[in-house]
Amino acid sequence: MIKLGIIGDPIEHSLSPALHTWVLTHLGIAGEYRAYRVRPHQLPSFLETARELVGFNVTIPHKERIIPLLDDLDPLARLLGAVNTVVNRAGKLVGYNTDYVGFVRSLEPHLPPRRAVLLGAGGAARAASHALLRTYTVSLTIVNRSRDRARQLLCELQRHYPDRTLSVARDDTVLEALSESDLIVNATPAAMPVALPERLSPRTLVYDLNYNPRQSLFLREAERRGAHTKNGLDMLIYQAIASLKVWLRQPDLPIDYEQLKRFLEGML
Ligand code: NDP
Repeated sequence: MIKLGIIGDPIEHSLSPALHTWVLTHLGIAGEYRAYRVRPHQLPSFLETARELVGFNVTIPHKERIIPLLDDLDPLARLLGAVNTVVNRAGKLVGYNTDYVGFVRSLEPHLPPRRAVLLGAGGAARAASHALLRTYTVSLTIVNRSRDRARQLLCELQRHYPDRTLSVARDDTVLEALSESDLIVNATPAAMPVALPERLSPRTLVYDLNYNPRQSLFLREAERRGAHTKNGLDMLIYQAIASLKVWLRQPDLPIDYEQLKRFLEGML
């Protein structure tokens, strides 16, 4: 019986327990996957008890703050500065990042972006920004509630990708950046993280990493302004499968993606 789970706060909205329970059942693996509401001050004590788990996912607000509490980090998680998957290897907790691959795979069916705006500078934004800059020849503008955190992410990205056009939007340049972009990613939990321009191009993809509700206010408003939209369900599924591969130490898992997606859509 393998014990898995997810930690976060809030956590009630997460489809991860349903997703992983469905996958474990379909793979014929005896196991459980539970949601644990862990507030920031509870994180160190949770990690003591977490050693009875095979592994767990990490979501808002812990993806960055968990790093100094882990025993080791996979090189990609170290590069991104964000962990969404922890595996217990003989009592040592090792951090991985599967948001990166989830984000990359979720964008594959879409046109390669050239100018992207990233809303947020937390764990998901870190994975998404590196994924965009490593996968596409894209310029990137960061918009975040706290400008200090946006500037810190910008400095890190400038170090890793010195040949790219990277910036943090000022209040008076946000609308222009949004109007000129062909990809807008919401990597915050906010329903409406930024005011959108009056019109958006049908070539602009507005991608909300949130998936519950299926169509957020942000996606509704973007669609009304003429953009093409996408929610975070594909990313959720791809990052979850990648996490399972880490926990089970299996490079391939026979999962029927479309059947799983239909199951999850039925829950939204
Ligand atoms: P973090 O806590 O690491 O970062 C949160 C980010 O959102 C920060 O940039 C923060 O800004 C910003 N933020 C928080 N609240 C607000 C608000 N009310 N208004 C504007 N900005 C806000 O969280 P994560 O990066 O882990 O997650 C972000 C979102 O992405 C979550 O909703 C999560 O569920 C979703 N997600 C979905 C995934 C999927 O598979 N579909 C995968 C990963 C994440 P500040 O710096 O100012 O605090």
